[in-house]
Amino acid sequence: MRHRGVTSRGLMWVAIECEGVRKIHAAGIDGNYASLCGLDGEENRVSLPKRGEKIDCPQCFAIWNETRYYRPGDFAPELTSTQINPSPDSKPEGKEQD
Ligand SMILES: [Zn+2]
Repeated sequence: MRHRGVTSRGLMWVAIECEGVRKIHAAGIDGNYASLCGLDGEENRVSLPKRGEKIDCPQCFAIWNETRYYRPGDFAPELTSTQINPSPDSKPEGKEQD
């Protein structure tokens, strides 16, 4: 179970204050954006969520809700083979799929 905002792959969720409203977002996945829904980490105040806080951004939820139905087999093998490899400094978590 993951109860904290950081995994071996990095941040899972972040708190972002945007135009005075603080929300919890899924973390951005490629380094270009602070959140999955595309908020900029330089224009907005980013911090770690407090323990127990849940993602409450509707856009992040919508992205997750629409993409969770895809399976590894829906993607080209060259993508999934690199995606599933753990980074060298992380331990395998027993989640490999083929
Ligand atoms: Zn979001």
